[in-house]
Parts: sequence; C-alpha cells; structure tokens
Amino acid sequence: MIPAAFEYQRATSVDDALAKLAASNGSGKLLAGGHSLIPLMKLRLSEPQVLIDIGRIAELSGIRENEGTIEIGALTVHQAVATSALIREQCPVVAEAASSIGDPQVRNRGTLGGSLAHADPSADYPAAMIAAGAEVIVKGANGSRSITAENCFLDLFTVDIAPDEIVTSVRLSPSRASAYAKLHQRASHFAIVGVGATLDVSGGTIRSARVGLTGASSHALRLTKVEAALAGKPATVETIEAASRGVGADLEVVNADLHASEEYRRAMVDVFTKRALLAALARA
Ligand SMILES: Cc1cc2nc3c(=O)[nH]c(=O)nc-3n(C[C@H](O)[C@H](O)[C@H](O)COP(=O)(O)OP(=O)(O)OC[C@H]3O[C@@H](n4cnc5c(N)ncnc54)[C@H](O)[C@@H]3O)c2cc1C
Repeated sequence: MIPAAFEYQRATSVDDALAKLAASNGSGKLLAGGHSLIPLMKLRLSEPQVLIDIGRIAELSGIRENEGTIEIGALTVHQAVATSALIREQCPVVAEAASSIGDPQVRNRGTLGGSLAHADPSADYPAAMIAAGAEVIVKGANGSRSITAENCFLDLFTVDIAPDEIVTSVRLSPSRASAYAKLHQRASHFAIVGVGATLDVSGGTIRSARVGLTGASSHALRLTKVEAALAGKPATVETIEAASRGVGADLEVVNADLHASEEYRRAMVDVFTKRALLAALARA
C-alpha cells in the first residue's frame, strides 16, 4: 500500500501544467482529486515518476453559463455539480449522476475531469455526459480541441485524450427532460448499471432521444438502437417499455464480476434504461 517514489510538482496554471507534463517526457501524471490515481499508485498499478498537482488551478474550477451554454470546469468537484441549481434545473441527468457518486468524501474531492480522463467502466459521468450530448474540452501543446462525449470513451480506462493533454472543461446545452438511473454497487456506489437519458418531446411525440450506458460494458456507450426505437413515437409509457425491452441482450460485450453476472447485468440494463427514460419523460 506504499506507492513507488515520485517527484511532486504543483502547477500554477493550465499552461504551466502542460509545460510540466511535456518536461516529464511521458513519466508524469496529473493529480486532481486523487481519488482514483492515489489508490492505483498505492497498489503500484500506476507508477508515475512525476506527479503534477493541478488541484489549485483556479481557472479549471467552477460552473458558468454563457449564451445558453453551460461550462463546467474540469476541477469542479462532484458535490458542486450535484448541488448546482443551474445544473439541476437545466441538465438534471448530470446533477443526478454527480449526486449518485460514492460517498460525501468522494464527492467533495473527486473532480469531473479526473472522472472523465480515468474512464472507469463503472463511472457515472460518462453515461450522463453522453445522454446530455456534452463536449469534452481538452488542451495540449497545439491548443484546445473538443471531443463529443460519445466519442471520448474508447475502451477499458481508455479515452481519446492524449497523455500530454489536459481536460479543461465540459460544455453542455440544456437537457431539461433528462434523468439518470443507476443500480449501484453497495460498497463503493460505482454503477453496476447506470443509464442517462434525454428526451426531446413535442406535441405528444418523442422527436429524438439520447441514451448513455455505463457499468455494463468495457466503456460507456451510446444506445443508438434504443434512441431509434423512440424517435417519432408517441411519448407514452408503452413506447418506453417497448424500446427498453431486450437492450441488454443486444449488447456485444457485457461485464461479469463478483458484483453481478453477465446475465444479471443484461437484465438490469433493460430495467434501468426504462427507469431513466420514464423519469426523463416525466420532465418533458
Ligand atoms: C471509495 C470510492 C468510491 C467511488 N465511487 C464512485 C462512484 O460511485 N461513481 C463514480 O463515477 N466514481 C466513483 N469513484 C471515483 C471518483 O469519482 C474519482 O474521484 C474520479 O473517478 C477521479 O477523479 P479525481 O479528481 O479524484 O482524479 P485523480 O484520481 O486525481 O485522477 C484520475 C486520472 O485522471 C487524470 N486526470 C485528472 N484530472 C485530469 C484532467 N483535468 N485532465 C486530464 N487528466 C486528468 C489523472 O492523471 C489520473 O490518471 C469512487 C472513488 C472512491 C475512492
């Protein structure tokens, strides 16, 4: 439980952190809330030679609204997202995912950027961000770029973010008819199955839907077949029940571990897809 020796450096700005990352020649890692990285280091599953602490970079923290777009800084802790009146009203799927993470200690230390960059297959934010149609903003030596949430998570702990890039924020448009539903692991609260859903409903018809899944597979996914089954259909419980049926059976890769067998997870995918969609419909 004692990490390998490392050098500690504190970054004072995003550009300073990027410079320190570049100088570490691939042996450095960013430290945000430390709630994923430090356990890995203690288990010696991660052995960075340089730890670059970004935890006090003020420009990376906070929730801002600008001309209808909401921007959440990468260092914003889960508790701040969960309790933000703006996020709760405009993007309930994101606020609900944040409030379901771990326990009070984890929610007060863990950060949005750390969660997205770490990409635990059971993390809550990825599914919520896919459902919200979020863009992940990253900065590297060549400037900033944005990645859609659905294209960000590639595989187990693997993201479309280079080791020398920093997640600076997440951008969201309002998704008021949205919700997050989760079957949590009793000890850690990580998702066995977590589903984020957003509906666009008008005139009693579902115009479009966005559904994100976490916990069930190697990485968070967009459930495009469910979305297609909802689009253009009456906004009713029956439509949602029909669209949620067999979603789990249809997934290619489903995790199995001591917390839930593959068969149980597939069954729970249907249950929690339906719950998230019904909760989103109630807000439409
Ligand atoms: C007991 C416990 C229970 C938990 N339960 C849940 C849960 O129910 N649901 C859930 O989703 N999560 C859960 N977590 C994980 C928690 O949300 C972590 O805080 C989060 O995954 C990582 O955020 P962090 O700020 O702590 O990142 P760190 O641990 O500091 O970093 C994690 C990784 O991300 C990189 N990184 C950090 N910030 C950035 C950035 N801005 N740009 C690029 N790379 C960056 C680091 O270099 C590192 O590789 C739990 C953790 C613990 C310890």
